[in-house]
Amino acid sequence: MKPCSLTLFAAACLASSLDAAFYGAAPDANHPWAVHDENRPQPPRVEPAAVVGGAPSDAVVLFDGTEESFGNWVHARPEEKRKADWVVQDGYLLAVRGAGYIQTKEQFSDCQLHIEWSHAQQLLGEGQKRGNSGVFLPGGIEVQVLDNFNNPTYPDGSAGAVYGVMPPAVNALRAPGQWQSYDIIYRRPIVRDGVSLDEGSMTVLVNGVVVQDSTPLDGGGGHKKRKPLNQPYPDVGPVALQDHGNPVRYRNIWLRPLRPRPADGGTDGRLSAAATTAKRAEIGAEVRASAANMQGWDQMMRLLESQMYASNSAAWDVCNRQVSESVEQFKDLSTKELEIQRQQVMDLHHALSYLQRFDIIAADYKPAKELREIADGLGWLKQK
Ligand code: MG
Repeated sequence: MKPCSLTLFAAACLASSLDAAFYGAAPDANHPWAVHDENRPQPPRVEPAAVVGGAPSDAVVLFDGTEESFGNWVHARPEEKRKADWVVQDGYLLAVRGAGYIQTKEQFSDCQLHIEWSHAQQLLGEGQKRGNSGVFLPGGIEVQVLDNFNNPTYPDGSAGAVYGVMPPAVNALRAPGQWQSYDIIYRRPIVRDGVSLDEGSMTVLVNGVVVQDSTPLDGGGGHKKRKPLNQPYPDVGPVALQDHGNPVRYRNIWLRPLRPRPADGGTDGRLSAAATTAKRAEIGAEVRASAANMQGWDQMMRLLESQMYASNSAAWDVCNRQVSESVEQFKDLSTKELEIQRQQVMDLHHALSYLQRFDIIAADYKPAKELREIADGLGWLKQK
């Protein structure tokens, strides 16, 4: 019997770090990550506000009640053509008749937008003429602002409607004079070369009540007309607020960009085959790079893991040699010595079986067969 190499002894204290690999379904043609993949980046930390509705740590604060934050906005209508300006008053932003729209200086794309608004307690007018304003998402799709607390209008023009596209599911408005909140999750339509890749969606909560639930944007709608899905749509644009001739107040406006969708170059979700191949190559290279800082058994296991993202012949040559040597060493051990190395035998058996199950290494890979025979001969495959 040959003495155990350092490779195997080193494994005893390091094997636990490998539990995470060879676990969920492996990467495939449309998913660069395995299911439950611990090589996937951790979500970045965001500090939530002390009170729900407040701006979290990564939000872009667009208006916080100060004149200074009103500097984030510009009037869309040139000065010589407008009769008035929006004003900051008692910590809110007031739409003034004749001022036209205001819009953010900064351009945004897909986003989470929080905004609060209120009307005067006593309002004149009916239907669309009663407290009309609107929140325009980047690209120009409007979430309607209106006092229809007790003022029926065409449903797809009610407060919380995606204007001209979809009525709110329910009317969750408070009475005029009270503050109302909108939480909007907006995914713009993606159109490339005249082809609609994603018609976009909007989720809207009015005062915490879901009124739009991933509503398809159906071309984006508008006043009195439908739009085709494949009309050109900008990737970025300002957030805008509407002056519809009615005095509407706004406060606490903040926005968070959303992570990109696969059609936008995002790598979470179901990707195209080309994007998956590119990302798998990148992850494979990262895992191989981390293996370069390891030694012995750990390095072998890490290199095996790298193969499930992207096969790499140089890495395979190294780990194949390590696997073959390890199995040869296991073959030389007595039953008693194998019992001591049982965790390592089973870890390697598990890794090789996993890689065979997902066609990453050949079904007839000899060291895998030999290792299975060792484990089976000791009755380990029948036990958990
Ligand atoms: Mg409006």
